[in-house]
Amino acid sequence: MKIALDGPAGAGKSTVAKALAQKLDIMYLDTGAMYRAVALYMLDNGISTDEQDKIEEALENIQLVVKYENGAQKMYLKGEDVSLRIRENAVSKAASDFSALQPVRVFLVKMQQETARQNDCVLDGRDIGTCVLPDADFKFYLTADSFERAKRRAKELTEKGQIVDVKKIQQEIEQRDYNDSHRDFSPLKQAEDAVLIDSTNMTVEEVINYVINILL
Ligand code: C5P
Repeated sequence: MKIALDGPAGAGKSTVAKALAQKLDIMYLDTGAMYRAVALYMLDNGISTDEQDKIEEALENIQLVVKYENGAQKMYLKGEDVSLRIRENAVSKAASDFSALQPVRVFLVKMQQETARQNDCVLDGRDIGTCVLPDADFKFYLTADSFERAKRRAKELTEKGQIVDVKKIQQEIEQRDYNDSHRDFSPLKQAEDAVLIDSTNMTVEEVINYVINILL
């Protein structure tokens, strides 16, 4: 079984995908983490988005590995666990910038398709239903109002002890949505055959139950 789960930043895709993977006993691949790891590598090596040759060379040397430890997805770059660093704010922005580049997309889409070929899985991202798995058995497009998404993100950060500005988070989310949906290669968009779920007024449990009802 292959499930595609797409949508904008902060819509709750990873929470829903993790719950589905556990319930159905299939693999979960967070493709955003892969774009984040590539972006981190470029940042660490001082490579900018207009340096095409350096980017292509970097992709040949990157040694990006996805591992599963105690059920959690971990990202490794050249043997280093970067799972925490890829969540930093600067990396979110850089991931959105580098993900617009065709060589980066070709490189990661190939890895994602290879993983999906070998496993029953749920993939979450921006282009899973439109590009990575156009023949997925089920496709969902999960979205929510940008202020609601910002509030959810702010709650997560507050719980980690950070001081946050919800309006600023909303602006960053909207900027990322704009970048992701206006790029030339595989922009964020709902696949024609995807089920649209607007979770603005839904709890996570309601979303999961809604999806499970469609799957089973
Ligand atoms: O999902 P997440 O917010 O971790 O993704 C980080 C960035 O990676 C997104 O803003 C988007 O630019 C990019 N991305 C993508 N295609 C995917 C998954 C993520 O372009 N399938």
